[in-house]
This record gives sequence, C-alpha cells and structure tokens, in this order.
Amino acid sequence: MTVIFSGVQPSGDSPTLGNYLGAFKQFTKFQEDNDCIFCVVDQHAITVKQDPKQLKERVRRLAALYLAVGIDPDKSTLFIQSEVPAHAQAAWMLQCVVSVGELERMTQFKDKSDGKARVNAALLTYPPLMVADILLYHTNIVPVGDDQKQHIELTRDLAERFNKQYKKVFTIPDISIPKQGARIMSLQEPTRKMSKSDDNKKATIFLTDTPAQITKKIKSAMTDSSGIISYDKEEKPGVSNLLTIYSAITGQEIAEIVAMYDGKGYGDFKTDLAKIVVDELAPVQERLEELLVSTELDDILDQGAEKANAIASKTLLAMEKAMGLGRR
Ligand code: ATP
Ligand code: MG
Repeated sequence: MTVIFSGVQPSGDSPTLGNYLGAFKQFTKFQEDNDCIFCVVDQHAITVKQDPKQLKERVRRLAALYLAVGIDPDKSTLFIQSEVPAHAQAAWMLQCVVSVGELERMTQFKDKSDGKARVNAALLTYPPLMVADILLYHTNIVPVGDDQKQHIELTRDLAERFNKQYKKVFTIPDISIPKQGARIMSLQEPTRKMSKSDDNKKATIFLTDTPAQITKKIKSAMTDSSGIISYDKEEKPGVSNLLTIYSAITGQEIAEIVAMYDGKGYGDFKTDLAKIVVDELAPVQERLEELLVSTELDDILDQGAEKANAIASKTLLAMEKAMGLGRR
C-alpha cells in the first residue's frame, strides 16, 4: 500500500487557513486507500523559542485538529514526533550525509533567519530532521504546501545518497501539492506566504478565529485601487490570493468566479468570501472543542505513538547497521 506521511508544527496560535488548504484538506482524501501517517512535529517547533506550557497546549490542540478535519484513527496513524525517539536519532545520522552548503541554501532557513542577530543552530539543521520524519516510514508520497518543495527535493537527494553510500535502506518519496491552495498568501502582504508564526495577526486567518474575526480580516485584506476582480498574481496579488482561497474552498474554477463577479466591487466579493470561509471552518471548530474535552484524544495518541515507534525503530536499526553503529 502507498505510504503517505505529513507533519504540521505546533507553532503559532493555531494552524492557518494556508495550512488547512495547503495540507489538512488533502489529508482526508488520502486516508481512504493509503497507509497514512500524520505527525505533530513538536521538535521542529522548538527551532524558534516557544513557551513550554503553551507549547504543550498547542501540541494537544493540533492533534485534536487533525481529527477535527476528518482524520480517522482507525484508518490513519496520528502521533507526536517527540514521542518517537527514532526521529531525532535518525536526524543526527542524516546530518552526517548533508553539507552545510546544502542547508544554507534552503529558502526557509534564509526567510526565518533573515535580519535576526542570533539564530539557533537547529534552524539550519531542521531539514535533516524533516528528512528523517519522512524516510523512517518508507514514505511514498508527502502531501504538503508549495513552500516545502525544496525540503522534499533535499529528502530525495539524501535518501539517494544514503542508499548509494551505505545500503539501500530508504524509499524515495514524491511530493503532492494541491491544484488550488498550495500557497495561500498573507492578507496584509500578499507577496509573502501566510504563516502561523507571522507577528501581524491581521495577516493570517487562524482556524480558531471566530466568524467576526474572519470577516474582519477578509474585509480589511489588502487589495488594490483598480476595483476590478481579476486574477493577476504580479499586478494584483491581494485579489488573486482571495480568488485562490475562494476557488480552493468551493472547488470552482477561478475564471468562473471572476465571471460571477463581473461588474461587482471588492465589497460584495469580500462579504461572500468571508461567509464561505466561516461556513467551511464552523464544523471543524465545533468538533475541535468537543475533542479537546474528551478522553479519546490521549488514547488515540498513545496508540499512534506505539504504531509509529514500531515502524520507525526498525528503520533506525537498518540505518545503524548500514552505517556501522553499535554492536547489533
Ligand atoms: P511556521 O511559520 O511556524 O513555519 P507554517 O504556517 O509555515 O508555520 P508549517 O507547520 O511549517 O506551517 O507547515 C504545515 C503544512 O502547511 C506544510 O505542509 C506546509 O507546506 C503547509 N503550508 C504552510 N503555509 C502554507 C500556505 N501559506 N499555503 C499553503 N500551504 C501552507
Ligand atoms: Mg513553515
């Protein structure tokens, strides 16, 4: 069976509409006929400073959110990265097959370290941990947003390199990017991607935002002065981003949406879009609150960690044997 692996960081207040359209929305359709493994990657989140108490809460919320969007624990494995020690162990070994130059070329590293006086070493060595996350499960497909393309390329390179230098331990994974919604942009700076950790909260729709907050953020989203609803990423990045969100949720083609709003202004368009987003997220939010107070969440995560540990520790042993570590 095809193995699908994807992870989301418990960074920021909550996942965003970008995470939802780029990643979560793809997940549920995969779980029907594939072996799906979903992970709350908390060790990635600590590459930037986190409040320990808050991080713990965010880990739980994010795990609940996977279930709230429709991940079924009977069909998929859901676990927390730090509860499977093989990830960090494999990441160390993979750091020994990657060069500093390759890591410095990663745009996520450049973006996240840009302008900072002090940067944690782990921000640079983040990709080998992500490579480990994916390779430990013999993953065939990684459903992610467009921003992760470069990291998946690196995953393929390192897997091939390891297989060649040592022994054929790893499966080479492919990326899956959604047709619409692979890169949702910031509502305030539509040339930057929407991010959980953006300091400007007006730029981001969080999955936990209330209908009033969602509506306010969409109505104050940056557009332009032409007043014409059309898709042009270069000249009209703001309106184009809103059209992308509209299309990714409703499944309508952008051209069809543009035709529907011919002669109408941004006000009408934004009002309708706000309603579409609110209606899409309402059932997810309702289920999320129910799960957070239930006991089923911990049971699901315990079982998930057990299943993930069983697979990951086997791959780790194969890696150790291939590299000549230990006595086994
Ligand atoms: P951070 O700013 O802390 O890195 P993030 O919003 O980038 O947070 P991640 O946890 O790094 O979220 O990514 C989770 C998943 O969401 C990945 O598959 C990533 O490709 C996808 N994703 C992130 N941002 C967007 C976006 N703006 N549009 C579409 N998909 C996105
Ligand atoms: Mg990110």
